[in-house]
Amino acid sequence: MAEYTKVPEAHSDIPQMPLTLDPADPLAPIGLRSRLNPKREEIYQGPLEKVYLFWLVGASCDGCTIAVTGATHPRLEDLMLGKVPGLPRVELIHTVVSVESGAEWTENLRMAAAGELDAPYLICWEGSIMDETFSGDGHWMGLGEDRETGRQITSLEWLDRMAPGAAAVLAIGTCATWGGIPAAANNPTNAMGVMDHLGKDFRSTLGLPVINIPGCSPIGDNIIETAAAALLFLNGLAPLPEFDELGRPAWLFTDTVHRHCPRAGYYEEGVFADEYGGKECLVELGCWGPVVQCNIADRGIIDGHGGCMNMGGICIGCTMPGFPDKFTPFYTVAPGSFVSLFSSRYTGQFIRRFRNLSRRDKNRSARWDSSDSPSGWARHRKQPLGAERAIHRLYSKVQHSKEGSSR
Ligand code: SF4
Ligand code: SF4
Repeated sequence: MAEYTKVPEAHSDIPQMPLTLDPADPLAPIGLRSRLNPKREEIYQGPLEKVYLFWLVGASCDGCTIAVTGATHPRLEDLMLGKVPGLPRVELIHTVVSVESGAEWTENLRMAAAGELDAPYLICWEGSIMDETFSGDGHWMGLGEDRETGRQITSLEWLDRMAPGAAAVLAIGTCATWGGIPAAANNPTNAMGVMDHLGKDFRSTLGLPVINIPGCSPIGDNIIETAAAALLFLNGLAPLPEFDELGRPAWLFTDTVHRHCPRAGYYEEGVFADEYGGKECLVELGCWGPVVQCNIADRGIIDGHGGCMNMGGICIGCTMPGFPDKFTPFYTVAPGSFVSLFSSRYTGQFIRRFRNLSRRDKNRSARWDSSDSPSGWARHRKQPLGAERAIHRLYSKVQHSKEGSSR
């Protein structure tokens, strides 16, 4: 057994774990024993072979963890195996799914805070940040102990120590981004998002403010895709992708749910559901989709499937900084939707009728315009007569007027 070089204490005020290297140890290739950078060499020279991803947790329900493990484009496992071209292999150091536990697990955090790792690291923070100055003699979020004094170290203390040395800090989920449900009205723990805690002047070692990926829970693919984009940038293979003024990946969170909702056509034609289970627009049941920035309608929740209104549910605004208070009471029609509802309902009925008329015409081949269609299906309509026929002829004349011939 060979002893690691002792790291100077000056790099950390947290006592380090005595490390020994046992070549026969089956965990050696994947555990912290392989992570130390005893020579403290320059580690930002890409392309990188690996990076560390620290998944830290505040006041959370673990829903974001479940979401990220369900990602498929790419899969978290593919990142961890280094199978995605152009991306370094990701060593995930997670509170729940890591192989190590206890003091051995928290030793990874100490090494990161002390700048002793042999590769750059990212931080993903899940859950809101509770104000530890409100916790009296206890704490809200404990994560390991000081090995010398036995004092409980809080997750927040780890974040404060590690964030300045991180290549990027990603706030995952609405609790981590904006405070979420723990920060709802009254907020006895003074819960807040990572950005609120670190402040607007925070910058990672790559010069990035906090990256925010909201959602309750967020779409797993949104998390991995954003992390992958940051890694490509870190690896020098792509420019930094565009983020909006709140640090959201712009390509994921600029459009409203409504713009991509499969029910948006019903809204336009003024057809609204008055109970769940139908295929019509759900705005009268309390859907906030027209004003909420979220891409679940076109991306789905897992592997392109599911997602709120795809499965019959309304949007309650869970990706937005104002969630939940500014979207309550849930399942009640939003007062602001009355104007657009009114106009959709009354203009929509004309639009719908004209479209139905046009659809009947486009469902006929030119050959059938002067005869009944030969379909044996009873539902198929016969050729239009009278006013409808005249309307189709007039429409066709206008449609083809620029072609130099009329039909
Ligand atoms: S269900 Fe919601 S998001 Fe979809 S069309 Fe209606 S209002 Fe828009
Ligand atoms: S559609 Fe609305 S409720 Fe559903 S995930 Fe998006 S923001 Fe949340």
